[in-house]
Amino acid sequence: MKRKAKTNTKPTRKRRLGAYWSFVLIVSGIIVLFLLLSLIKSFGDWYVDHIFPLLHGVVARVWNVFPFAFGEIVMYAGAVLVAVTIVWSLVMGILAVIRAARKKERKKRRVYRIYMKSILVVALLFLWCYLFHWWLPYSGHVCGRDTKRQEITSEDFRVALVEIGKRIGWAQQNVVRDENGLIVYLSDEEAFKVIIRSMQKLSEQYPRLKGYYGRPKVALCSDVLDWMGIGGYTYPYTMEITYNKYVDKFYWYALQAHETAHYKGFYKENEGSFIGFLACLTSDDPLMVYSGCYDAYWDVLNDYYDALQNEYGKDADAKYAEYWLAGIGFDMELAVSDEMHAEKVAQEVYENDDHPLEEYSDTVEEVGDAGWETQDAVIAENDYDDVVRMIAEYYKEKKAEAR
Ligand SMILES: [Zn+2]
Repeated sequence: MKRKAKTNTKPTRKRRLGAYWSFVLIVSGIIVLFLLLSLIKSFGDWYVDHIFPLLHGVVARVWNVFPFAFGEIVMYAGAVLVAVTIVWSLVMGILAVIRAARKKERKKRRVYRIYMKSILVVALLFLWCYLFHWWLPYSGHVCGRDTKRQEITSEDFRVALVEIGKRIGWAQQNVVRDENGLIVYLSDEEAFKVIIRSMQKLSEQYPRLKGYYGRPKVALCSDVLDWMGIGGYTYPYTMEITYNKYVDKFYWYALQAHETAHYKGFYKENEGSFIGFLACLTSDDPLMVYSGCYDAYWDVLNDYYDALQNEYGKDADAKYAEYWLAGIGFDMELAVSDEMHAEKVAQEVYENDDHPLEEYSDTVEEVGDAGWETQDAVIAENDYDDVVRMIAEYYKEKKAEAR
């Protein structure tokens, strides 16, 4: 038996979402879904190993077409857009309050509505890119490995220092120098090829480092970055490495190796520094080894001294002297003079350029300092300093494997 179908004589009009709001809703839904998935660290690891390289291969290639740092311009445009939106919204708010919106203003309101709807799409696009280009890779484990942090002693730091010192010693003997004993540096373009070569070699251990590498780009406002103490950054929206052209050539490899690690999805500061260090350490280029190992050496040395003080108290200095007396593996005086000379050259490059905003440099520096402090607080245990622990763990594991 079947009921007789009811015939509806009065068809009801259903309200339907327009194409615009359906789009907004779907995109927002996907963003929320993946934000929730990012709470699972192993999902982040899987994402950065399998999906991110495909996305990176496309996005990085597209923006690499531009010879200038496109992301930097996007940042300035973004700041203008935010300012315009705030000012316009305030004006519209005031107009509404004083009820001045008559016929003429109604037209203005329509323009404002269209503007705000466009801004919403732009904001969603930014959120989308933020999520898939940066946040999901960032949400994984450090270096994609779910391992426990080990207990590190002063002896572990000492072992690391000895090994790093040996590599610096090797680099000092093999680096190319001119007749005055000064290091001969490559062009930035040639130097970056050296970095890519080292990264590709390291990709046997970290497959994320395989695939495409675009060119790093000089920041348009290098002086502003300089005042803020920023050597370079990797802009995740356009996947471009952008660097401050006043960074000295000696430090350049250490900096670019760090940024290149970010570029390939190692976004946390500790993992960026660690992958950068490994790329420098295992490089076949003496200058890259020299740069990366010397940079890491000082960080490890500082932590070594702190650890000695914790463990030995008043006997710490004697222990520290023992380390120095046993020979550090390289010529410290030469290393310092190489560093100083590179800094002097970089300073000359800076002085030869015009800096129209220089009178604001102190203010910019203060903003920069506040930015660094905020970043330290936000990234917490994955900050720059944590690389020292990772380096010590690396040598500890190597020692254990050799046994
Ligand atoms: Zn970084």
